[in-house]
Amino acid sequence: AIPMAGGSIPSRRLTVLSGPSGVGKSTVVAEIRRAHPEVWLSVSVTTRAPRPGEVHGVHYFFVDGAEFDRLVGEGELLEWAEFAGNRYGTPRRAVLEHLEAGVPVLLEIDLQGARQVHTAMPEALFVFLAPPSWGELVRRLVGRGTEPAEVIERRLEAARIELAAEKEFDVTLVNTSVRDVCAELVALLAAQPPNSD
Ligand code: 5GP
Repeated sequence: AIPMAGGSIPSRRLTVLSGPSGVGKSTVVAEIRRAHPEVWLSVSVTTRAPRPGEVHGVHYFFVDGAEFDRLVGEGELLEWAEFAGNRYGTPRRAVLEHLEAGVPVLLEIDLQGARQVHTAMPEALFVFLAPPSWGELVRRLVGRGTEPAEVIERRLEAARIELAAEKEFDVTLVNTSVRDVCAELVALLAAQPPNSD
């Protein structure tokens, strides 16, 4: 069950960035983190192990399965999803506190999570990050070409389904250059009016 935001939550300054896996969402977020400190980036909890360079409390809160269960059980997550064998979720309280303070909030989450936020907070702005072309996405997913053909085939099939989600979103940004996408995203964040109520 997703905790409902309720009418009094000023979610109009909430922007949700989502899109197919491999499209470059985390690169865009890294650039926002570097160049736009005025945007508050939600820090997700995950059961995934940290990658080299990832800092607890900056890139993610790294938790074990029991702690994730506790957060779900106590309604602490605005949304959560399982992705590639790990669980990821958005801590609810910090998002709501920033929105209440009038700070623009950005969530970078997968498509399953974006759908949950859409149910809880439909007045948020939903931004779909699209690859410049299907060929480019294939190139990124195939990557180094070290994986078996059937693994790649499965990823491509998943990508086809994920690309079809674009029509559920308010805005599409095409990821031609990280700089351009960040500028467009920041402009969208700034254009959202603060709540008057
Ligand atoms: P990665 O493991 O590469 O950091 O992230 C894998 C996927 O999880 C990405 O598509 C990312 O957008 C998504 N993700 C990260 N945090 C969250 C979250 O809090 N909720 C959901 N639903 N997905 C997330």
